[in-house]
Amino acid sequence: MKYILIRDDDVNFFTRPAMLEQVYGFIFENDIPINFSVIPAVNSAAKTESCHFGAGSPEPFLPRNIAGEDRQFPITGNHDLLRFLNAINRKEFLLHGFEHAGKGGKYEFESEDRKVIETKLTEGINLFEEAFGEIPETFVAPQDKYSRTAFAQIRNRFKTLSLGWVDSSRIPFTFYCRYLQMKLMHRNYIRDGNFLITEHPGCMFSKFMNINEMSKKLDEYIAANRITVIVTHHWEFFEKGALNTDLLDAFRRRITGLAGKCEFLTFSGLRKKLLN
Ligand SMILES: [Zn+2]
Repeated sequence: MKYILIRDDDVNFFTRPAMLEQVYGFIFENDIPINFSVIPAVNSAAKTESCHFGAGSPEPFLPRNIAGEDRQFPITGNHDLLRFLNAINRKEFLLHGFEHAGKGGKYEFESEDRKVIETKLTEGINLFEEAFGEIPETFVAPQDKYSRTAFAQIRNRFKTLSLGWVDSSRIPFTFYCRYLQMKLMHRNYIRDGNFLITEHPGCMFSKFMNINEMSKKLDEYIAANRITVIVTHHWEFFEKGALNTDLLDAFRRRITGLAGKCEFLTFSGLRKKLLN
């Protein structure tokens, strides 16, 4: 059986439940498990380094009138959003950094400052617990970037790290053997004791991808791997506030097409499958 994990990124204080409903309503109705990677205290000064949006411009998930100000907005301050998220039937929440904003030319979790990383993780976990009544088990690093210092702490505090790809220059030397094993076995995950690292093929349901090419690539990826993490950004389905129906139709067709042929999982569900 092939396993599929849907991972939405960037839910934060400013996320409107109506947007999530428009994009994922069919997933909720069909009781398909979904994973939300949540920013616990988004900073309105967060910038994107994506060439698509223009490197150095405000993160596209921030409202235009607030973007730029160096201020944190804890997710616990948006009660409507939390009510909506907590009421979803089959969901799991993942910790997506802390404020999603880098400093000094480095992404948020690229810092080598142990104290800074420790504080961000502790505060992020505390906010997450207050919002969802549980401790996060899976970590998603903003922009997929992390230092060796951050990796060591993520390894200690989480059960799973969900990444685009494992960068051999960012993992500790003790992990290198596991990394080589993954490459030799043509796998897209590493298991080290009870700790799991998963890779994914990138964000495919994006307006910057050609829908047909993306679909072919995804077919090939699913055929070649036992596990596929499909990463989406709910905010990418909107263009100046209007829903991109072509992109959403492609996403909906793909997910409903996979239902029945594959098993949809949360990250904790995946761990049960792989570690038992
Ligand atoms: Zn993100």
